[in-house]
Amino acid sequence: MSALMLTKSYFIETFKKLAEMAEQNRDHLSKLDSDIGDGDHGINLTIGFREVEKQLPTLSETTADIAELMKKVGMILLSKVGGASGPLYGSFFMKMATHTVGKQEVTFKEFCQMYQDGVEAVQFRGKAEVGDKTMVDALIPGLDVLKNYQERDDPVKTLQTCVDEMKKGSDNTIALIAKKGRSMRLGERAIGHRDAGSESSWMIINQFLEQLKLENQQNA
Ligand code: ADP
Ligand code: MG
Repeated sequence: MSALMLTKSYFIETFKKLAEMAEQNRDHLSKLDSDIGDGDHGINLTIGFREVEKQLPTLSETTADIAELMKKVGMILLSKVGGASGPLYGSFFMKMATHTVGKQEVTFKEFCQMYQDGVEAVQFRGKAEVGDKTMVDALIPGLDVLKNYQERDDPVKTLQTCVDEMKKGSDNTIALIAKKGRSMRLGERAIGHRDAGSESSWMIINQFLEQLKLENQQNA
């Protein structure tokens, strides 16, 4: 069996899936955000990923490597999506470029590094820690899984575990008071509500998982 390699087209196919995911979950994510925020999180994501999808044919032709693709996608999100999540997800994807310059494909191990670079950018920009009731509460438990990935482990199982841990991290936000973002001003009234960004972040990584499953079947 040859090692699974994730090509530029893996990322392009995943971005198509992200556009679909955003449409399908738009109302759900906005509802979560309306409970303790301003109710636009789902709308913000559809605006961003719709624009990414629109530009994908051009991006797939014109980008020289995975780094350039990630950077451009991140820049689209950053420029098109308002609110807190646009710059945060924008930085997430832009920083996935850090270790992929000149690369047409990456190993799953390298993908784990990309995720780590992305999460570091979110924390650098938003200054949130686990427990602040933000997307970081999902991103960090996922990172803990991917950091421990060994070459002998199964990539699909690893990413599945990552998504599962992210979901649990999102569940954990329900009981919390927010220390970052719009819901901060609600104080104890935020308790009992899930943070919207923690939900969208596991949903995003879940689409990377779905596409990975497809690639893995084709590789078998
Ligand atoms: P806005 O809050 O500006 O309306 P969105 O509704 O699109 O933007 O996104 C809200 C989500 O952004 C929150 O649910 C939270 O997960 C995330 N968020 C807000 N501030 C931060 C921060 N400083 N660090 C990490 N995530 C944050
Ligand atoms: Mg909002």
